[in-house]
Parts: sequence; structure tokens; C-alpha cells
Amino acid sequence: MAPGAGEDAECAICRQYVHLAAVECDCCPGRRTCLRHAATLCECPPPRWRLAFRHALGELDALAADAAARVPAGADLSPNSRT
Ligand SMILES: [Zn+2]
Ligand SMILES: [Zn+2]
Repeated sequence: MAPGAGEDAECAICRQYVHLAAVECDCCPGRRTCLRHAATLCECPPPRWRLAFRHALGELDALAADAAARVPAGADLSPNSRT
């Protein structure tokens, strides 16, 4: 099981769900804010912040798989081209 997988992701300030894009910082593990409230996350400089895309990466994977499935049958992109 991935640690933290069951956590609710909500902004520490406005309590809006931030499952698409949350801002985190190593100085305060478990604390997250939405992009709008990133400035109030902590006192670290913004380069220390981390964007946590909880679902977006999985969706990108799905998009990539979908795009691969749309490659025309005649276009052989794999090195193993024998049938
Ligand atoms: Zn917020
Ligand atoms: Zn910090």
C-alpha cells in the first residue's frame, strides 16, 4: 500500500479539495494547500514547494496509452517488426 494514499487532500486554508493540484513543502509534511493559497503554506521560498498532482499523472498515463492505441496499424514503431 502506498503511504498516504487514503488521505483526503484538501487545502489547509480554504478546505477546498486539491486532488488535482496541491502544493506541499518538506518543512510541513501532510500540510497541503491549493494553488491559490500556496503563499500561506509555509515561510519557505517558493522554489522549495512541490506540486503534488495526485490524479493528473494517472490521467496522463491513460492519455498516453490512448494515443498509442490510435497509432495507425501500418505504422510500426517497435523494433520487433516481424509478425
Ligand atoms: Zn485554498
Ligand atoms: Zn516550507
